[in-house]
Amino acid sequence: MKKLSCRTETFTDSVIRRMTRVSLRYGAVNLSQGFPDFDPPKEILNVLSQSALPHQYSITWGAQNFRDALAAKQKRFTGLDIDPNSQIVVTCGSTEAMMAAMMTVCDPGDKVIVFSPFYENYGADAILAGAEPIYVPLNPQDFDFDPNVLEDAFRQGPKALILCNPSNPCGKVFTRRELEIIAALAEKYDAYVITDEVYEHIVYAPHEHVYFAALPGMFQRTISCSSLSKTYSITGWRLGYIIAPAEIIDVAKKVHDFLTVGAAAPLQEAAVVGLKMGDDYYKALQDTYTNKRNLFLKGLDDLRIPHTTPEGAYYVMLDISEYGYDDDLLFCEDLARVVGVGAVPGSSFFKEPVNHLIRLHFAKQESTLIEALNRLENIGKLKK
Ligand code: GLN
Repeated sequence: MKKLSCRTETFTDSVIRRMTRVSLRYGAVNLSQGFPDFDPPKEILNVLSQSALPHQYSITWGAQNFRDALAAKQKRFTGLDIDPNSQIVVTCGSTEAMMAAMMTVCDPGDKVIVFSPFYENYGADAILAGAEPIYVPLNPQDFDFDPNVLEDAFRQGPKALILCNPSNPCGKVFTRRELEIIAALAEKYDAYVITDEVYEHIVYAPHEHVYFAALPGMFQRTISCSSLSKTYSITGWRLGYIIAPAEIIDVAKKVHDFLTVGAAAPLQEAAVVGLKMGDDYYKALQDTYTNKRNLFLKGLDDLRIPHTTPEGAYYVMLDISEYGYDDDLLFCEDLARVVGVGAVPGSSFFKEPVNHLIRLHFAKQESTLIEALNRLENIGKLKK
């Protein structure tokens, strides 16, 4: 038999999703792959169960009413006037949005800047698009970056920078000042910025989310990707989108058209009501996640497990140095099997050889988080 594609030899399956399977195998409380165990807003579920929903393809770029509602929501949160017909593509989750954005921008051999730690999809996205990542470290504990190191990366002539903000896995929310530094460099070296802003509405006070595309002069070079998964607790619906200037969207539409044809029509229809929800919904979402974060972090503190303090998103990284493992994947497998909690090894997010961190998420009901904390009382069993 002939060899399968070389392209696919250089990356593995997703470790995040693999850890969900490991959690299932051992009956562990799954805090690995980030998704809620609570229901979406009832307004959305009501439409899903009660309305006559479309069963055939929507328009390839997304149903008209979905794009109209999305443009209105963007105006509300970013102040930008987005043309729903020429500046939006609705995708199958932000996973497709990021892949399509990368393929829209990059030719084989092009470089893209990626901050490390990074969400693991970007590595595979870059390989599939033929692009070569230039990694710029976010330095623990604050996960800040050195502007000189970033400028050195820009000097290599990258086509784009990937910006995950709020950041998965480290919970960093980039400040306006930091974003302005990135913006100035993107302008100076004429690079695109591809954003992944799926946690835009999960930010902890006093931190605030600043939309990169809304910075002065940045709309024209920004390809904003996001999704409804986290904001409306519908990760399985796979509804995401790209927003960018029309010249870029023209190309992204072609890529999307041949990758997936379109996002699920009935789910777009049901989700429109979510896009139209008022400010009180987003305030309640923030409060809910702030309470979950506080409960979980306090529980970790009580157990004396060192951890990061997320400014946004719903992940926390635990320092496992004291348990004596060289291999954080093995640690996570043992954690699922012996302690009964699913986590993701930190090494799957870092370019650097980091193996003393694991990622847990807290997008779970309080009772689930308490059960996980109770189980974590046994984490000492893993000490070598
Ligand atoms: N973004 C979530 C995580 O990092 C889920 C990823 C996925 O499986 N699409 O865990």
